[in-house]
Amino acid sequence: MSRTQEILEQDFAHLWHPFTQMKLWPDEPPLVIERGEGNYLIDTEGNRYLDGVSSLWVTVHGHNHPAINAAIAEQLTHLDHSTLLGLTHPLAARLAAELARITPGKLNRAFYSESGSTAVEIALKIAYQYWQQSGRPGKKTFVALGEAYHGDTLGAVSVGGIELFHKVYGPLLFPVHRLPQPFCRKCPLGLKHPACDLACAQALEPMLAEHGAEICGLIVEPRVQGAAGIIVQPEGYLRRLWDICRRHGVLFIADEVATGFGRTGTLFSCEQEGVEPDLMCLGKGITGGVLPLAATMATDQVYEAFLGEFDEYKTFFHGHTYTGNPLACAAALASLELMEKNQVVAHTAPVIQRLAKGLAGIAKMEHVIEVRQHGLMAAVELARDKATDTPYEPGERVGHRVIMAARKYGVIIRPLGDSIVLMPPLSSTTQDIELLMSALGQAIAEVTEG
Ligand SMILES: *Cc1c(COP(=O)(O)O)cnc(C)c1O
Repeated sequence: MSRTQEILEQDFAHLWHPFTQMKLWPDEPPLVIERGEGNYLIDTEGNRYLDGVSSLWVTVHGHNHPAINAAIAEQLTHLDHSTLLGLTHPLAARLAAELARITPGKLNRAFYSESGSTAVEIALKIAYQYWQQSGRPGKKTFVALGEAYHGDTLGAVSVGGIELFHKVYGPLLFPVHRLPQPFCRKCPLGLKHPACDLACAQALEPMLAEHGAEICGLIVEPRVQGAAGIIVQPEGYLRRLWDICRRHGVLFIADEVATGFGRTGTLFSCEQEGVEPDLMCLGKGITGGVLPLAATMATDQVYEAFLGEFDEYKTFFHGHTYTGNPLACAAALASLELMEKNQVVAHTAPVIQRLAKGLAGIAKMEHVIEVRQHGLMAAVELARDKATDTPYEPGERVGHRVIMAARKYGVIIRPLGDSIVLMPPLSSTTQDIELLMSALGQAIAEVTEG
């Protein structure tokens, strides 16, 4: 038996993969990835693939960047792990100071965890408890967007709005006020942008006028709803939500887990509309995509509501075992240093432009109903009939077939339904984008026209 075969036998016998119909899993044996080099992944057969999804939206500087690897190795000579419960360590403190410095507005406190989902849980619990301790105990519910995605733990699923992922858990979830999804092509209000004057955002005004006394916070993925299919919000949408929240005394929670750390062309998406959130969730690219780490940033005002004497019990009683792991903090600090030193975000501008140019070509294809892009987040949505906006049948698995075909041309990507997601590392070159575009174009042609 070949080495690849041996690994697959163990996988098929014992591994349960995320977001995967395991019955079908062995039918199309997966690539076994064993090496990373810059923007490329290499499998056990020695094939090289462009990492077109940044290993699920995390890779910033490419794989195995020597500076990040060295920072982790250096930290390993000092301390592998120690807890933040009752103790501290140098890199946890330094990274908190760095995050406070680079995040917008008055976000001066970092609470660590390990995943975007936990960063969201923490933000929700902080927002709720903030009002409990600020004389407004009636404020207990949240506002979230249609088709929102904030992670897979139950609080995050409660504010999530993707029926396919979330519906079955309905009885386990807390109720949420839901805003119409800002998706112009399929406007849930049946309106046209810009004549609509952002009616989907404006819907927050009557909602808060009526229910503001019960609402503690609004959570939103700033500028782009990622897992919904890279749905780019119309300009001014985010700012409008923020303005309304501020007027009604509702905390604004920015879930920048996907959009943060340069993914959308600025360090954080909120900056693009001058939005200063009360709470911000960070994850994915925070370590450059190397180790699991997340942070929930809070303003001084939010933080101060948790201060009191021991027996006032205003403490935030929350903490994950590996919170602020020193190796993960070392990776994050090294990644942030690289970002600043190499002006990584500024250097993505020509790559973003190249992606836009490639997408403009792909948009003309017969079965491409829409291309959506914001920075280095993009999606190509496929449909059976463009003229009538008629989708393919789910059972046809068109998106899946396209991404499988793209592998023949040396590119790893993933679909969300019939939207093909493109999320190349921030370190991608224009040549990498050319490869991505030509592989995608060929794969789409083969599956939809072939
Ligand atoms: C990925 C994602 C999360 C969840 O992060 P995990 O690390 O997978 O738990 C939360 N919010 C947004 C916007 C995301 O894209």
